[in-house]
This record gives sequence, structure tokens and C-alpha cells, in this order.
Amino acid sequence: MKAMDCLAGALIALTASITPGLAQAPKSGIERMYVLYCGDIALTDMGRFSPGYSGPGALSSTCYLFKHTQGWLLWDTGLGDAIASMPEGQKSNAGVWHVKKTLASQLAEIGVKPSDIRYLALSHSHGDHVGNVNLFPQATLVVQKAEYDWPDPSGTPRFPKDMKATKAEGDHDLFGDGSVLLISTPGHSPGHQCLLVKLPKTGALMFSGDAVHTQANWDNKRTPIQNFNPAQSAAALDRMAAVLKEHNAQLWIGHEPTEVAKHKYAPAYYE
Ligand SMILES: [Zn+2]
Repeated sequence: MKAMDCLAGALIALTASITPGLAQAPKSGIERMYVLYCGDIALTDMGRFSPGYSGPGALSSTCYLFKHTQGWLLWDTGLGDAIASMPEGQKSNAGVWHVKKTLASQLAEIGVKPSDIRYLALSHSHGDHVGNVNLFPQATLVVQKAEYDWPDPSGTPRFPKDMKATKAEGDHDLFGDGSVLLISTPGHSPGHQCLLVKLPKTGALMFSGDAVHTQANWDNKRTPIQNFNPAQSAAALDRMAAVLKEHNAQLWIGHEPTEVAKHKYAPAYYE
């Protein structure tokens, strides 16, 4: 009888260890996230970005830095640091760009060297998102293949050709642990992507890139008429809404100026 009791006990223990419902969910590899100021954009005509508006407007520019157990990840690089030394800012085709604090100085403040960045994930190839790519020549670019291969009218490559690059074709799980997902959202540009990150304490966040520029555009499902493909842009908003729901995620819109006051910036961080 005693031997039978032992066997029964062992069987119960074995069953408990292999029952899927009792297994712990894999731990997110993300340890912390920093929000970085990446410039200010003064627009001549807000209507170019937000149908229904006219006259001057303003957009913020935001980058996000993640410490993952497999290395540092930077999402977008903002306006170029060189603009910080231009008193009048830099003229763009839509207005004027200003940089009050460089990306390099913000990284230095938290003790991160540009060479520490393992992955440089970019929403797309427009100038207000790739302004500081050259600070990180050792990093691996993480972009959509459709964006990488999109011919630039000037004939110059959209990304430095000598950088290592992961060219995703659709959604992509960057670290293979489900903690960082690139979400394909073409329309603003041919290979635009959003970023979904699962933070251990804060929860799931989705970063919009330029799939949407403002909260008002999101609330009213509006897309800029100047987008590369307006029909794809509208579909991207639907896809984002579905992903937000599926992952119970918050949407953070990097160009929405009212988000600046809502979020804590580096050196403070989120976990
Ligand atoms: Zn932008």
C-alpha cells in the first residue's frame, strides 16, 4: 500500500507540473522604458496633417528607448541633433523644426552610449524620424522591407546601406519572446510600422509612428490626404484598433503635443 501511495503522489506531482494552465506565462524581457524628447515641429498649415483644420499648428516629436535583457532598443530617432545649434531652427517643406535638447545628451544623462544601442527600429523613413540614425552605425536597423526598398526621388538610399538591417515583411516579434512586436501599418509610407511593447508593470503600449499624428485624428478616424496611400492609411487605423483591443494596449501618439505633459521623460522611466 505504501508503495502505491508513493506512486500516486508522484503521479499527482507530475500531472501538476505538466498541466498547461499551471505553467507561468513567460516573463517579459523588457526591464524599463525611457521617453525621449526628439524635437518640436511648427507647421505652416495644420490641415496637411489634420483634415478640417487650417492655419499654423504644432507637433511634438518623441522617441522611446527600451532596456531588454537581450540589449537596448531605440524606437525612432527624431529630428537631427545638428538642428540644436541652429537658432532659427531648420526649415522643412511643412514648417520649421526645432531641437531644444539633443538625443545624444539625453542618452548621456542616463549613462547609455550610442554604441550600446543594439536595435534601431524605425516607424518609417521620413526626416523627422531618421534624423539621428547616423549616431548608431553599429546598430541593426529594424524596418519593413517595403520601406527599405522604397526608391527615394533623390536617388539616395533611405537608410545607410552599410548598416546591418532586419527587413521585416509584415508583423515581426523582435526578441522572440512576444515583448516587442513590430506591427505592419502601411499607408503613410509604403512600409510604415507601429511598435507594440509589453512592459512588466505598465502593461502593453502601442507607439503610433505616423500612422496617426494627433489624438483628434485618431478619435475621428482621419488620415492626411498627403499620405502615400490613403486607402491603406484608413485600413491601418482599423488594424491598430484591433491590435490595441487584442493586447489590451494603450495608444501613444508621438506627434501629439498634449502627450508631452502626460508622460514622464528621461531620466525618469517606466517599468
Ligand atoms: Zn513624423
